[in-house]
Amino acid sequence: MIIQLETSITSEQKQHVIDKVKEAGYKANPVITQMGEYLVGIGKAKFDIRSIGHLPGIRDIHIVSDDYKLVSSKWKVEPTTIDLGDGVKIGGGHFALMAGPCSIEGEENIINTIDHLKNNGIRIMRGGVYKPRSSPYSFRGLGIDGLKLWYQLAHEAGIKIITEVMQVSQIEEMVDYVDIFQVGARNTQNFNLLDELGKVDKPVMIKRGISGTIDELLYSAEYVFSAGNERILLCERGIRTYERASRNTFDINAIPILKEKSHLPVIADPSHGVGIRDFVEPVALASTVAGADGVIFEIHTKPEEAFSDGQQTLNYWESARLIQKLNHLASSKELFGH
Ligand code: PEP
Ligand code: MN
Repeated sequence: MIIQLETSITSEQKQHVIDKVKEAGYKANPVITQMGEYLVGIGKAKFDIRSIGHLPGIRDIHIVSDDYKLVSSKWKVEPTTIDLGDGVKIGGGHFALMAGPCSIEGEENIINTIDHLKNNGIRIMRGGVYKPRSSPYSFRGLGIDGLKLWYQLAHEAGIKIITEVMQVSQIEEMVDYVDIFQVGARNTQNFNLLDELGKVDKPVMIKRGISGTIDELLYSAEYVFSAGNERILLCERGIRTYERASRNTFDINAIPILKEKSHLPVIADPSHGVGIRDFVEPVALASTVAGADGVIFEIHTKPEEAFSDGQQTLNYWESARLIQKLNHLASSKELFGH
């Protein structure tokens, strides 16, 4: 059960609602976000919502049978739009592309990428400054100084940035220099990190865990929402299966399933999803047809020289071609029923 409360509700009225929810056999979890106030009722008892719905201070009440609640489309039927400001929106009919190197490599790399994005009408740049690497000897990112330089150059050019935060202690130093925090696949179930990202006033994109189920991704999003931050994006980036012909198995099923289960925007990451340059384009196109609200992909002037993930990185020519095709597909989305 989700009860949306009026902003004008008094503490006595709220206590009365909580008492009634308990009486109905539910545990009442108060949730205060940057956008609203809710009571999330957890329980299975059958009762008539009208017995609570008329109480003063309640805006609306919904039965949500899913185990995750606030991220479910059962109570919020209209899709969520993430507004980054300056006309950059994601979801709710706004198709968004995000591109950039796997790792931010330095000033020249930043400037080249920004030029390419501007020339191709892309408003969001991706890149890692804290990199989760399988080997501790691989390049692990430029850290906070790289982020500050990147943010400054991107913002001068009107470009928003999305970058991965790996641990709670990094949030504070990063928060003024990011437009979207990315939670990586290795951190999808880092519940402390998710809790803390619930307290920041920046959108959060959560990637699906390497071996994570769709429901586990939704629970992770529920952590962020219930901790106070409603501005969440879900990202399908491939899962680990027995298949060895590709780096990961991009789960195309996840796109329409997530769109149906949740009101949150769904982003496809074909670069990590397939992990092979030649197949990034077909997977990106397929995910758009499947209903993704956006695509995030890796690009580099010389992919073979990229500091990380060169094997799945597009050069600028391939990127420009993909952008053109994706925009074309997105403009005819009604054809696919989205
Ligand atoms: C990335 O986007 O750079 C990344 C490391 O992705 P993932 O967490 O999906 O592996
Ligand atoms: Mn990468």
